[in-house]
Amino acid sequence: MAVAALDYLYGTIRRCLKLPVEGGCIRGALRYRVSDTPLAVLICHCRNCLQRTGSAFSLSMLTFCKNF
Ligand SMILES: [Zn+2]
Repeated sequence: MAVAALDYLYGTIRRCLKLPVEGGCIRGALRYRVSDTPLAVLICHCRNCLQRTGSAFSLSMLTFCKNF
């Protein structure tokens, strides 16, 4: 993907994402807060992720430790 397209995508994510992002695990034992735009957001459709999430995909996010 061209750098301009990545800049556009990153800018769109930055504009649409309301920070901080907060969430947690389904059992409520773990809570998290992300305070800055993630470096990457990944969607996986592999068989393991389908079974693990019980849905069509899993969603993962990469960020610096200082923002998590
Ligand atoms: Zn997967």
